[in-house]
Amino acid sequence: MRPQILFPLFADLTTIKGVGPRLAVLIEKVARGARVKDLAMTAPTGLVDRTRRLSISEAGELGGLVTLEAEVEKHIPRPTMKQPYKVRMRDETGFLHLTFFNAKADYLHRVLPEGTRRVVSGKAEKFASEVQIVHPDLIAAPGEIEEADLLQPVYPLTAGLSAGVMRKAVKGALSALPDLPEWIDPALQAREGWTGWRASLEAMHSPQSGLELEPTSVSRRRLAYDEVFAHQLALKIARAERRARKGRALTGDGSFVAAVLKHAPFTPTGAQLRAFAETKTDMERGERMMRLIHGDVGSGKTFVAALAAAHAAEAGVQTALMAPTEIVARQHAGVLKALLEPAGISVIALTGRDKGRVRAELTDAIASGAASVVCGTHALFQESVSFHDLGLVVIDEQHRFGVSDRRKLTLKGQAPDVLAMSATPIPRTLTLAAFGDLDVSRLDEKPPGRIPPTTRVVNAERLSDVIEGLGRAIAKGERAYWVCPLVEESDVSDLAAAEARHHMLSEMLKVRVGLVHGRMPAREKQRVAESFRAGEIDLLVATTVIEVGVDAPDATIMVIEHAEQFGLAQLHQLRGRVGRGDKPSSCLLVYHGKLGETARARLDVMRRTDDGFEIAEEDWRLRGSGDPLGLRQSGLPDYRIADLAAHSDLLEIASEAAAYEVQKEAMFDGERSEALRVLLYLFERDEGVRLMRSG
Ligand code: ADP
Ligand code: MG
Repeated sequence: MRPQILFPLFADLTTIKGVGPRLAVLIEKVARGARVKDLAMTAPTGLVDRTRRLSISEAGELGGLVTLEAEVEKHIPRPTMKQPYKVRMRDETGFLHLTFFNAKADYLHRVLPEGTRRVVSGKAEKFASEVQIVHPDLIAAPGEIEEADLLQPVYPLTAGLSAGVMRKAVKGALSALPDLPEWIDPALQAREGWTGWRASLEAMHSPQSGLELEPTSVSRRRLAYDEVFAHQLALKIARAERRARKGRALTGDGSFVAAVLKHAPFTPTGAQLRAFAETKTDMERGERMMRLIHGDVGSGKTFVAALAAAHAAEAGVQTALMAPTEIVARQHAGVLKALLEPAGISVIALTGRDKGRVRAELTDAIASGAASVVCGTHALFQESVSFHDLGLVVIDEQHRFGVSDRRKLTLKGQAPDVLAMSATPIPRTLTLAAFGDLDVSRLDEKPPGRIPPTTRVVNAERLSDVIEGLGRAIAKGERAYWVCPLVEESDVSDLAAAEARHHMLSEMLKVRVGLVHGRMPAREKQRVAESFRAGEIDLLVATTVIEVGVDAPDATIMVIEHAEQFGLAQLHQLRGRVGRGDKPSSCLLVYHGKLGETARARLDVMRRTDDGFEIAEEDWRLRGSGDPLGLRQSGLPDYRIADLAAHSDLLEIASEAAAYEVQKEAMFDGERSEALRVLLYLFERDEGVRLMRSG
């Protein structure tokens, strides 16, 4: 149950004075939520400093944003509809006109009564030797306004929501803030000079200078810490809970693993053996494994999974491998067959395309245990599929699956161990945020003998040269990918672009050109992918669907159009499709138009290195904040105030602090634990609380 102290924060936006249902809808858009707390946590993005007070003559002289106090001398109604309404103001130094194009006269008389003094603020300019302010931003009686009101935070807005209304709403939200118990360790708080939660939020909303808008400001750091800490705490609780849950000790005699190693077409890398050793140790323990094999494209994650499956087979349990797409599932099945069947371990694939009798045979083999390893897609966790004894679940591209998918599959077994695999190159500093709940084995060594692709960056003006070169290479027997990006955020135009390219390339090059795109039925995609793999297609034009898994080890050329529109992580994944065999390969990054400095530097990184993790670090460094790597899609949380680039030190502190809190025995007893509970609920990480209770 949500602690009572948080009720006002979780109240609807309409509980704020002056915010009705219509306004609430608009605010919800910018606050990214319909609760008071969402608005309270919406940080200002700018500051308008109206503290520059000038006289009228100075204002005329200097211009710019000014605040001045003067007497309202007289209203001058618009002489014709085309002309503005003017109000003449005067002080000791001269007069100016406030100019209005569409305000109502009675309203203007109300806020600017003749003969009174008023404070006005806006942009002063000289127009035909007269000083004027067009549509002043602020009009107030001298007594109504305080110095603090002249520093106005600027919030993100949306159509129909004005700056003033938004500011008022934020003020309203702030007036509802309760004092929350302190969840931050006192020593840390003292060291950082942090004020309490409420005071920090208030400070964030009343910046006194541009510096206070920076992520490095004291108040923002404190609030960022809260956010990251809540997340880390939830991750650590989930992890502790999983550890506490009983799993099965899967042990074996080493025979299958030895056989797989013996028949493997290569010598495993040190990193692969290390990752497997860690995995095996986990599996042998009586707790549930939740391990991530984190390694760049081509680092050989599948082989680690194969060894884990062999170990599971020794223990007499089945392995399910879940892949994001049908193509990948079938490819995994093929690879695992080659690795495992010589050792006597049976491997099958089950995907949505298996129907009728075929499907029945497959599900029978799964139910009887005749199939030791099953590769599949979502089809694996349909109700009609039941395993004889599922002991290991392997998840490829783990970020593509939600927690519920994972859970559905693990429910098919008795507390099966889970091994996830990810190639998302996340900067080292961010692994905590992304994978804080997992044990991670990093494959930091690539199989030897691979020649990285040579990468070139070319302007689209030279497209015809590119195509010519491509024609020559294909004539010599090479095979190539041609990737067309998502042109707009729609499948349709995306497809049109790929189709147009397909058409053009088929015309210009007398080679076998194939097309694969996201809107094709899975079966069709599969067929095209297979004929490319088999060498029946020379050139495969693709939308980014090939990103996931089409594997043709003989392909040596990758052309990526509009490379400037891709994230580096994506470019790296795409490039990883070539250079898998032992032949030299190349990658052409084609950009359109003129490249900005950062865009050029980013593509340059691709040219310089083939190490996905280094690329991630560099991209991170170049772009700093925001979401340069598409990290959000890869499972990183969407923090509101925390900025993972600026606050990476906080991430580490939070991770340690969270680990400490969780391993303390009485986490959910006592005063301090009450504060932690409030924190988890405030950031809607209450699943953590629930888990802890049930564990
Ligand atoms: P990823 O980590 O991207 O899933 P894969 O498991 O698909 O990588 O492996 C990429 C390629 O490297 C495959 O063709 C695989 O056969 C090969 N490979 C894996 N391990 C080794 C090794 N130790 N030595 C040589 N080649 C290897
Ligand atoms: Mg893989």
